Order: sequence, then structure tokens, then C-alpha cells
Amino acid sequence: MKYLEQYRDKNLVLKLVDEIHKTTTQPWTIMEMCGGQTHSIIRYGIDKLIPNKIRLVHGPGCPVCVTPKEMIDKALDIAAQEDVIFTSFGDMLRVPGTHEDLFSIKAQGGDVRIVYSPMDAVALAEKHPDREVVFFGVGFETTAPANAMAVVAAKEKGLTNFSVLISHVLVPPAIEAILKSDRNEVQGFLAAGHVCTIMGYEEYEPLSKKYKVPIVVTGFEPVDLLQGILMTVKQLEEGRFDVENQYARSVSRQGNDPAQHVLKDVFRVIPRKWRGIGEIPMSGWGLTEKYSKYDAELKFGVIDTTAEEPADCISGEILMGHKRPNECPAFGTSCTPESPFGATMVSAEGACAAYYKYHRLT
Ligand code: SF4
Repeated sequence: MKYLEQYRDKNLVLKLVDEIHKTTTQPWTIMEMCGGQTHSIIRYGIDKLIPNKIRLVHGPGCPVCVTPKEMIDKALDIAAQEDVIFTSFGDMLRVPGTHEDLFSIKAQGGDVRIVYSPMDAVALAEKHPDREVVFFGVGFETTAPANAMAVVAAKEKGLTNFSVLISHVLVPPAIEAILKSDRNEVQGFLAAGHVCTIMGYEEYEPLSKKYKVPIVVTGFEPVDLLQGILMTVKQLEEGRFDVENQYARSVSRQGNDPAQHVLKDVFRVIPRKWRGIGEIPMSGWGLTEKYSKYDAELKFGVIDTTAEEPADCISGEILMGHKRPNECPAFGTSCTPESPFGATMVSAEGACAAYYKYHRLT
């Protein structure tokens, strides 16, 4: 694990921690945007190593968590139909809709299958021309290119029995929604390294300039995170607000051109509802007209429903950076990963699940 261990090097970690302590002179609030970063921060105790003056809050970067309950209900409606093979990555199967989850549909006889790639779903559609095969395409910009490629492949193969239930969301509009909030306290962001591997970081530059906020593209290992925090704190202390790239081993300013090309062909930007937060304007992707016959929502006519979050769940406050999981009265008592109430406990990547897993009870 050569290229992993060097980013967990103890001496390097201690050096960075020391530099962060020397650099920090006043309180700062920094948000990491990605659920993977949240887990690393809590798992490795990064938040305990840095000065108390730095408050780390956890952003809405867990794709499973922010998938609205209504979308889960639509998945359940489709998956329950007799001629359907409903395919999904495994993490969506236990996410509760209003009344049940995909595992329950499977237990009741529905043909719900876990796949490891959207292309597996395309292969199923080829193999079962008499059945409708639906893939649940959830996630941020990172997973979108593979889902887009599956739609392109289905079109090229002339498949008429394949469709995707799309629930893709975008990071920059979420950052803007947080910055626009009257209650915003976030002063700097760690942008998600893998999202920027696809999209680059050019699109963050107008945001950084408009809201005078440093944004540092950051990786996921302890050295990455500490270096990202240090770069953010340096900017804050010096009164700068630039977009900087800590994750240069993977991210370029322009990102991945071929991936962006297929994304532009297959998707168009639309408003999306985020679980726990509500609708954010122009914050997601839907299929373009050219690929609309692969849209499972249109094909199955699943109607728009509204689903409420439990009143005592504060996941929206957590996803906006106003509160942390252990400030929720239900955390670890009535709400646990086995019996999750809200967005941030439903997925292993969610902030509440991370706090629970690593025993951050207070
Ligand atoms: S602990 Fe549960 S109820 Fe509380 S915010 Fe997290 S998901 Fe919601």
C-alpha cells in the first residue's frame, strides 16, 4: 500500500499539526464537503489534533444521505412492479422510504439486484429482453460519468428495456446555498477531491470570489486533510480567498475532459431537492431530451409525492454546518444506524453514522 501509507505517515502528520497550531491565531469554521472526508476526520481524530479554535463542520457530501425520500419512494414503486429487474449499488437498499426500503421489496418477491457498475445493468437488459431493467443512478459528479456511459451504451445497443432513475446532485450549488444562508458560519471549504477529479476546480473560482471564501480541493487521507486545513487556515489568517488544490496528484483545474463531454451530452442541469435541506436551484442533473426515453421516472410515470423528515431530526442543520451530530437529542438513542431517523444516519458515509461508528457521543 505504498501510495496510501505515505499519506498516513506519522511524522508528516505531526509536522502538519504543529504548523496548523502555529498558524492559527483566531477562531475559524471550516466545512469539509465530502462524506468520505468526514469519515477520515472522525476515524483518525483529525478534529482532535487541530487547535480548538478551528471548528470543523460537515457538509452535505454524502450522496446516499441527500437522496430525497420521495426518490426512494419512486424506486420502491418501480421495483415492486412484476416485469421489472431493479438494480442498484448495495448502499441504497437499506435506505428507508416513507414506509419501507428496497430490501423489503426484495423480501416480498421483488426482483431487486445489487450491481457493481451501471454497465452490469445494461448487460442484464441485454440478457433479459422481455423484462424492464432499471438502474438507480445516485450520487455527485463523481459517479455521474459511469451512469451517463451506461445510458449511451444502452442507446448504441438499441436497448428499449433499460432505463435509469436519476438522482444526481452537484457540489457548487450546495456550497452557494450554504454561503447564502442567513445563518452561515462557514468561512472556508475543503472541496471534495474526487468530484474535482471529474469536474476540475475552475467552477469554484467565481464562488470563492463572490463570497470571499477560501476553497481548497482536498483528498481523503490524514496528510491530505491536514494539508487542506493548513492551506485553508493560511488563507483565512492572511485575508486571502482563493481556490487552491491540495489534491494535485489527481485533480487538474480543467478536470477530466472526456468525462465532462459525456456528462454534457447525457445530462442537463435541473433543480433538485436535497434530503434534509430542501430544494436547491439548479443543483442536479436530469437526462437531456436526446436520452429522455431512458428516464425511468417518465417511463414508469412515478408520480411526485412529498415525504416529510421526522420533526426531531436535525440532519438539515448538520448538512448546512449549523450543528454537529452529537448535538442531536436523538443521536445514539432513538436514532442509530440500525434504526435511522434521518438523512445523515441512513448511510455509512453520513456524518451521524460516522460519529456513531467512532463513538463520538459528546
Ligand atoms: S442523529 Fe438521527 S435524528 Fe439526529 S440528526 Fe442524525 S439522522 Fe437526524
